[in-house]
Amino acid sequence: MNGRRSIRAAHVLAYADGGHVLLTDAEVVVEGARIVAVGPAGAAAADEVIELGAVLLTPGLVDLDALTDIDHTILDSWQSRELGLGLQWSRDYAEQRRRAVFDAGERAFIREYGFVQLLLHGVTTAMPIASEVHSDWAETFEDAVAMAEAARRLGLRVYLGPSYRSGVNVVDSDGTRSIYWNEPLGRSGFEDAERFLEWAAAQESDLVHGALLPCRIETLSEELMRRTAALAERTGVLVRLHALQGLLERELVLAEYGAPPLAVLERTGLLGPKLLVPHGIYVDSNPLVDADTDTDIATLAAAGVTVIHCPLTMARHGAALDSFARYRAAGVRMALGTDSFPPDLVRGIDIGVTVAKVLAHRTDAATYADYFAAATLGGAEALGRRDLGRIAVGAIADLVAFRLDDPLDGVLDDPVRTLCMNSTARAADFSMIAGRIVLRDGVIAGIDLPAMTRRAQQLFDRMRAAYSERDYLRRPVGELFPPSFPSG
Ligand SMILES: [Zn+2]
Repeated sequence: MNGRRSIRAAHVLAYADGGHVLLTDAEVVVEGARIVAVGPAGAAAADEVIELGAVLLTPGLVDLDALTDIDHTILDSWQSRELGLGLQWSRDYAEQRRRAVFDAGERAFIREYGFVQLLLHGVTTAMPIASEVHSDWAETFEDAVAMAEAARRLGLRVYLGPSYRSGVNVVDSDGTRSIYWNEPLGRSGFEDAERFLEWAAAQESDLVHGALLPCRIETLSEELMRRTAALAERTGVLVRLHALQGLLERELVLAEYGAPPLAVLERTGLLGPKLLVPHGIYVDSNPLVDADTDTDIATLAAAGVTVIHCPLTMARHGAALDSFARYRAAGVRMALGTDSFPPDLVRGIDIGVTVAKVLAHRTDAATYADYFAAATLGGAEALGRRDLGRIAVGAIADLVAFRLDDPLDGVLDDPVRTLCMNSTARAADFSMIAGRIVLRDGVIAGIDLPAMTRRAQQLFDRMRAAYSERDYLRRPVGELFPPSFPSG
């Protein structure tokens, strides 16, 4: 490393007394992987000065349900119920015809493409999501190793492991939803996940951390949940499990286990501070949930569970957290995720705040500050990392700068509100992860983005075409994905 580098910016979101504070004309001095000084520009000695100018320099964004897909929301967030059934696996596809749409090399490329997108949107720490829809079941040890290697090459910090499941959501021939179970596949996926934890631990790298990432609660057998909890307990790693994300999930879990999702998490030993739950929306107090209790939010808080809120993707699926402020006030740790394209936490924050206002019919229902803190401090705390998510002396130097001088953003007011309301995460211009500059002038060195985009488009086209063979009615792609307007 090249000595002490002073990174100067018109606005710096620093950290003091347990929260973020805004500094003007300030610097962050970095030595090796750590921050060694924060204060007025020029106050500390430095060997090199990086002048970023009219930007908001913030802690790198922490995305705990991170896009590592080409996209799926553009395909699956707008259909009628009937068309939506066509996007699931049919039971006969799951039982007899399932196949991987992509080979291992293509899967590795897709993950790397996702990582590049995350970096370009200011994410510095990511917990990837899998895209099992296109796989022949879930992910493999080799998939996770390829992802870890891509992350390390790019300089992105990841918490990951291969996803696994013992069942898959399917549509039966009469159009009803159920789960197709295949416990041996669940067990072998779990073994891959266990093997990956050992591999990740042996890397001794702060860019690669193992985690247990089983798919969704309704697709895990109780045995697999118990084994996951025991392995997490033994190794100390985090578990991320999609739960409380839909009404159908609740129905399926009630039918299979005779108890609602939260009770199942509790009795399998998963409920605790190591558990991260995307999306946590359909708790018993949610008016859409048929329950006569109102204890789930308090249970999540008492257990120390993190809820990973993905406001943009959920809003596009017609769902909203009810409400961010309520969960927070109850003491639930809140983190953010992107989940799908665009992996833009700034837009996510704006949509989250806006949806909260709409739900509460009040303009003070949520603040940009609280959401921004979830995208930084909340995510870091969920990972058990008090050295991430903050710009403070001794913290790891994970930084991102968002331009504030784009004339299209209009005038500048409070820099956080201006960024969130008038701009997007595409304003990310500079980022540093553990002291290494990853993004400079909006560019990642060595990445040919146009070439990646062309390959991603080809793979996306193939992925889109493959929906038809899985549809329980085998409808053509033109029927599953009708254009916005008929072609003239
Ligand atoms: Zn998700």
